[in-house]
Amino acid sequence: MYFSKSFVPILKNNPTEAKIKSHQLMLRVGMIKQSSAGIYSWLPLGFKVMKKIEQIVREEQDRIGVQEILMPTIQSSEIWKESGRYDDYGEEMLRIKDRQNREMLYGPTNEELVTEIFRSSIKSYKSLPQLLYHIQWKFRDELRPRFGIMRCREFYMKDAYSFDLNDDEALFSYNKFFLSYLRTFKRLNLSAIPMAADTGPIGGNLSHEFIILADTGESKIFTDKRIFNVESSSTLLDKNSLNDLRKQYEKYYSVTDEKFDRQEFEKLVPEEFRVNTKGIEVGHIFYFGDKYSKPMNAAVDFNGKKEFVKMGSYGIGVSRLVGAIIEAKYNDKDEIMKWPLSVAPYHCAIIPMIKKNDTTNIEKCNKIFEYFKSKNIDSIIDDTDENISAKIKKFNLIGIPYQLIIGNKAEGDLFEFSEVNGKTQKLNIEDVASQILKAKLN
Ligand code: ATP
Ligand code: MG
Repeated sequence: MYFSKSFVPILKNNPTEAKIKSHQLMLRVGMIKQSSAGIYSWLPLGFKVMKKIEQIVREEQDRIGVQEILMPTIQSSEIWKESGRYDDYGEEMLRIKDRQNREMLYGPTNEELVTEIFRSSIKSYKSLPQLLYHIQWKFRDELRPRFGIMRCREFYMKDAYSFDLNDDEALFSYNKFFLSYLRTFKRLNLSAIPMAADTGPIGGNLSHEFIILADTGESKIFTDKRIFNVESSSTLLDKNSLNDLRKQYEKYYSVTDEKFDRQEFEKLVPEEFRVNTKGIEVGHIFYFGDKYSKPMNAAVDFNGKKEFVKMGSYGIGVSRLVGAIIEAKYNDKDEIMKWPLSVAPYHCAIIPMIKKNDTTNIEKCNKIFEYFKSKNIDSIIDDTDENISAKIKKFNLIGIPYQLIIGNKAEGDLFEFSEVNGKTQKLNIEDVASQILKAKLN
């Protein structure tokens, strides 16, 4: 890909309407474009990042045995009347009438629809557990959409649902998702802390929010510093190991403000470990038993007895994560972004010195581009007329992790290669590739 042909509309200055760095940067480097309040189009750079995040989320769901489905965005109001949430959900729900005057809605979440799918087909406890997920657009008519795609009205979410015979099995499912979330956020190079949370309109009794610390976050959190050092590398999927994993986190007081109790906090957390700060909610898991299965009559036969299934739901804000990663990785002082390699729109920018009537450098770039491609390294060639230092500044801002300069200083087969804001090395192209590939593995 040539930069001159790419659709990356960069602005000279930070847009004044954006209040936080992720929103500023996403507009500045043309990752998104607002179409109306809280509703955005995703342009190539932003969409590339979101797709990579989506793929990691998907792989980590598949890894614990969740099955992918795709439910529609538009739902019928009938099932929401069955669960009792049609009235409860209030004005956040976008209600629509079709030409037959039927009440429809744009799904803000999918507990009802997935329960309807489940109950129409699964009849025996022998088919349990059922773990299903989809990645789909949601609409919530938020009172105050703000901060770009961090709190918008139309957003992209992974939501999963578990169906089990009893509490014990249901907690096993819950814990699988707990582990899966730790793995997902680790691959995104984020330190997301599980915090005990209120269950809100979803209801139920057990819930964790996964939160990234950030001053610009909207969630208030109270936590014990020591939770940041918990080792989450469990690979075992049996009941006991998963229970132990969750317990290791639950040893430390860590809650969002709805659950906060000052007395308890001060009793359980020694003063030097107390942290009272803000964070961004990137995921939320709930266990709510038969809250939906009972009113919606989703039951299985268990040795001749009818048992309402025990359910949980598990969300990840796929589109919000794009902004959350910027909040976590952007260096304000130097105006430098560095995307984690796992989600970077490009791994490496190839930056040639362009000389009039001389295509030697561009030809070199084309060869390097093809070589990188054969190694699964995503790159972009900056064939524009800008000078080298302007180009470097631009890629520092966009956050492409590596830069390779094809300039006058190239000696034989050695090129100047550097990591964003890092030291410059002179390397041949094979060594460049192996450095990038090695970093990709970490
Ligand atoms: P919040 O407390 O931020 O309003 P929520 O509790 O309403 O979120 P959930 O119903 O748990 O959200 O949705 C799952 C995930 O979807 C959240 O953890 C968050 O990452 C994301 N999400 C929720 N609302 C929005 C929104 N308006 N814009 C972007 N992402 C959102
Ligand atoms: Mg929530």
